[in-house]
Amino acid sequence: MKLNTDILQKKFGKSLIIKENLSKYSWFNIGGPADIFFRPENKEQLLEFLNQIRKNNYQLHILGAGSNTLIRDSGIKGVVIKLGSKFSNIKLLEKDMIEVGAAALDRKVSDFAQNNDISGMEFLSCIPGSIGGAIIMNSGCYGSDISEILTSIKIIDDKGKEKEIKNDEIKFYYRGTDIPKNYIILSAIFKGTVSSKQLIVKKQEELIKRKKESQPSQIKTGGSTFKNNNKKKAWMLIKESGCDKLYVGDAKISEKHCNFFVNKGKAKASDIERLINKVKKEVKTKTGVSLELEIKIIGNEK
Ligand SMILES: Cc1cc2nc3c(=O)[nH]c(=O)nc-3n(C[C@H](O)[C@H](O)[C@H](O)COP(=O)(O)OP(=O)(O)OC[C@H]3O[C@@H](n4cnc5c(N)ncnc54)[C@H](O)[C@@H]3O)c2cc1C
Repeated sequence: MKLNTDILQKKFGKSLIIKENLSKYSWFNIGGPADIFFRPENKEQLLEFLNQIRKNNYQLHILGAGSNTLIRDSGIKGVVIKLGSKFSNIKLLEKDMIEVGAAALDRKVSDFAQNNDISGMEFLSCIPGSIGGAIIMNSGCYGSDISEILTSIKIIDDKGKEKEIKNDEIKFYYRGTDIPKNYIILSAIFKGTVSSKQLIVKKQEELIKRKKESQPSQIKTGGSTFKNNNKKKAWMLIKESGCDKLYVGDAKISEKHCNFFVNKGKAKASDIERLINKVKKEVKTKTGVSLELEIKIIGNEK
């Protein structure tokens, strides 16, 4: 990749930062710098930027709220795009339908739906990411997930073209979709059902309470490290294999939920990754099950 950073910097001003440290954009609070970090002011500026960099063979990564992402210590030799507050608008379209910017936080979307008496989005109140990340991950909890409420998304594809994609054109599976990696989600339309605010608040409170009881909060983590794809949940396999007390430096496993890996202070991404590999190997040896990562690990190894 050879990008003329001076020209880009001049053209995009404060929207573009060279060698931005990414640790503050990840829930793990870990990660090296991005060669180019771009936070567009609006869609037009984003399209213009993509047009500028398309001619180069760049590595492009879209970052949401960073709650499901471990960024390696050597950072990203390429471009990181993060949609900011300008992409977080939430709008009522019909009495049971809302349009949401990809950078809107899940919790805010859940509260907006609640304020408009729309049920079906309560589960978003306990997922700490943004809507873009939630769609890519088909995020969910307690029996609900994004695929059930999503009507359509607006994206920019890898050729810089804007497109609308309907729910039935997307393949959703457990904690994932077939949306191509370099597509940038701009916004989504969600449909719920009209209900009473009282019932919606009650459901939100129940889910938040369940979460608090079973999962740690206020910690530096990426949530569930491995997918629950198997007959047994990942945390059970980890516990049964005697891995729940393993650690590498400050990379530890939560005492409350052993599928949550935690940066207890000065852990490096390499510590978390070594811990992940240790647990994977041990679980495979003890149970025969190959755990599959739920968190995304991004960046260059060296
Ligand atoms: C404490 C804690 C609890 C959690 N609980 C749950 C839970 O109950 N259920 C659950 O499903 N998850 C849970 N998670 C994981 C995480 O919150 C979800 O996966 C979340 O939806 C990720 O959103 P994000 O914006 O943080 O995504 P990121 O981590 O920033 O990115 C995730 C993926 O989405 C892509 N992406 C992000 N935005 C866009 C965009 N605009 N366009 C294209 N691609 C994009 C990224 O490239 C990446 O591939 C939890 C995490 C934590 C830390």
